[in-house]
Amino acid sequence: MLKRLKKEKGPWDIVVIGGGATGLGVAVDAASRGYKTLLLEQHDFAKGTSSRSTKLVHGGVRYLQQGDISLVLEALKERGLMIKNAPHLVKNQAFVIPNYEWWDGPFYQVGLKVYDLMSGKLGIGSSKKLSKEETVEYIPTIGQKGLKGGVVYYDGQFDDARMALSLAKTAKQFNGVVLNYMEVIGLEKDEEEIISGVKVKDLETGKVHSIQAKTVINATGVFADKVKQMDEPDVKDMIQPSQGIHLVVDKSFLPDKYAIMVPQTKDGRVMFAVPWHDKVVLGTTDTMKEKPELEPKAQEAEIDFILETAGQYLVKQPTREDVLSVFSGLRPLAKPEGDGKSTKEISRHHKVMISQSGLITIIGGKWTTYRKMAEDTVDNAILIGALDERRCITNNLPIYGYDKNLDLSTDPLAVYGTEKYQLLDLEEENPDLAQIISEDLPLRKSQIVWAVRHEMARTVEDMLARRVRGLFLNSKECLRVAPQVAEIMAKELGKDAQWIENQLEAFADVASNYRI
Ligand SMILES: Cc1cc2nc3c(=O)[nH]c(=O)nc-3n(C[C@H](O)[C@H](O)[C@H](O)COP(=O)(O)OP(=O)(O)OC[C@H]3O[C@@H](n4cnc5c(N)ncnc54)[C@H](O)[C@@H]3O)c2cc1C
Repeated sequence: MLKRLKKEKGPWDIVVIGGGATGLGVAVDAASRGYKTLLLEQHDFAKGTSSRSTKLVHGGVRYLQQGDISLVLEALKERGLMIKNAPHLVKNQAFVIPNYEWWDGPFYQVGLKVYDLMSGKLGIGSSKKLSKEETVEYIPTIGQKGLKGGVVYYDGQFDDARMALSLAKTAKQFNGVVLNYMEVIGLEKDEEEIISGVKVKDLETGKVHSIQAKTVINATGVFADKVKQMDEPDVKDMIQPSQGIHLVVDKSFLPDKYAIMVPQTKDGRVMFAVPWHDKVVLGTTDTMKEKPELEPKAQEAEIDFILETAGQYLVKQPTREDVLSVFSGLRPLAKPEGDGKSTKEISRHHKVMISQSGLITIIGGKWTTYRKMAEDTVDNAILIGALDERRCITNNLPIYGYDKNLDLSTDPLAVYGTEKYQLLDLEEENPDLAQIISEDLPLRKSQIVWAVRHEMARTVEDMLARRVRGLFLNSKECLRVAPQVAEIMAKELGKDAQWIENQLEAFADVASNYRI
C-alpha cells in the first residue's frame, strides 16, 4: 500500500484521517462506491476508542429508557446489518436483567418487548420473563438475596479491534489504501482557502509527504478538535471526552454463556458483565475528562466502583487480585450547548459538520452505527468534492472474511473468517508454527507470523493488543510471552536485537496501564 501511495498520480477523491470504527467505515463506504480512497492512521488501526468498547453491537436498552427512539431504531437496524454482513465477527448474545424489586419485572418486560418489535425483520431473538429459579439457572453465580426474577433479551457481541482490521481489509479489497503509523500533521489549502490535501508524516521513516485530495474527512474521534484546529486555529472545542473503564476477570465469575445487564446501578449507570473470549468483561463507567489521550488510564474510584457494583450482583465479590486486565476508552461525545450536563445526558447521535474550507468532520455515534455514520459522511463528501454521484452499497456488503459457518463461541480462530484456513495452511507448511505459546490468551505462533505478513502488525503491542486481544484479557500473561512474540516478529520483519529490546521496553510501559 505504501507503493500505491507513492505511485498514485493526481488527487485522491477521499482522504480519511483516523483509523478507528468511524474512519475505517468511511474508507469501506467510499472505496466500495468506487472512489479513490486513502486512510491515514497515526498509530495502529483501532488504537483509540475503537478497541476499548464494551464489545456490544446493540440498540441500547438504556436509550430506550431515556426515550431516544430514533437512536434506538437506527442502532437496531445497524445491529441487524452487522450480524448479517459479518457473522464471523458478531454473535448473538443473551443478556439477563435480574430483578430485585417487584416493579422492575413488568417494567423491563414491556420495554424489552418494544425493543424486540423495533428490530423488525432484523430481530435476533424474543425477550422473555424469567422466574427466580430460571434466573438462577441461567446465571448460577447471580446474587440471590432479594432476587425476584428476571428478563432475558438478545443483543450482538463482537471483537472490536478484529472488526476494525476486517474493515481495513474490506477497504483494500475495493482498491482503497489504508495505512497505519501515518500522522496527519497539517492541512493544505488552495489560493481560495479551500482544502486541497494533507501533510502526513510517516512515523517509521520520519519522512513528510504532501498528499492531494478532493475531500478530507476528519474521523479522529476524541482528537477531532485538534484536526479542526489545523483548519481553523481559533475554533472552539466541540468534543467532550468521557472515560469508560472495564475490568476483565476469570470465567468462574460468570461461567455460563449468559451475560448480566443492570440497567440502573445505585448511581443511575448501566453495568454489564459479559463473557468474552473465555473471560468476563465488567463495565463500565462514565467519567468526564479534560483532554483526549491515546492511552487513557483507569482511575482508582472507577475500579472500586466496578468491583463494588459487581459484588452486589454476583455471589462472589471480585477483588483487585482477581482483575486480569483493566482497559479504558474515551467516548467522543458531542459537547452540549451550555454547561451543567453530565455526559450521560449528552447526545449519543452522530454529527457530520462541514467547515468553510470544506473539511468534513464526523463525530459522536457508536461502533454499532459505524456503517450509517460512514454513509452520511460519504454522501456529504460527494457534494463537497463534486464527485460523481454513486450509491452506497454497504447495506448488503459482506465484511472481509465473511463466513457464516464459523462459530464464535467455540472457535477462537473464527474472527479470521475465511482466512482461518490460510492460517492453518501456514501451520501445515511449517509445523513449528502450530505451537501454542499461551493456552490462556490463547496464542499460537502462526498468528504472529500471519499478523506481520497480512495484517500490518508493526509492534509487539499491535500484536498482543489488537491482532489478538491478549493485553485486554490477561496483561500479566502477555508480559510473559512478549519476548517470544518479539523474537518471531523480528525474524519476520528483519529487525535486530536492539529492536527487540526497544519493543519489550515499550510494551512493558503500555502494559502497565492494563494492570492494577
Ligand atoms: C468505554 C466505552 C464503551 C463503549 N462501548 C460500546 C459498545 O459496546 N458498543 C458500541 O456500539 N459502541 C461503544 N462505544 C462507542 C464506540 O467505541 C465509539 O463510538 C467508536 O469506537 C469511536 O470510533 P472513532 O473511529 O470515532 O474513534 P477512535 O477509535 O478513537 O479513532 C480515531 C482515530 O484517529 C486517529 N488519529 C487522531 N489524530 C490523528 C492524526 N492527526 N492523524 C492520523 N490519525 C489520527 C487516532 O489514533 C484514532 O485511532 C464505547 C465507547 C467507550 C469509550
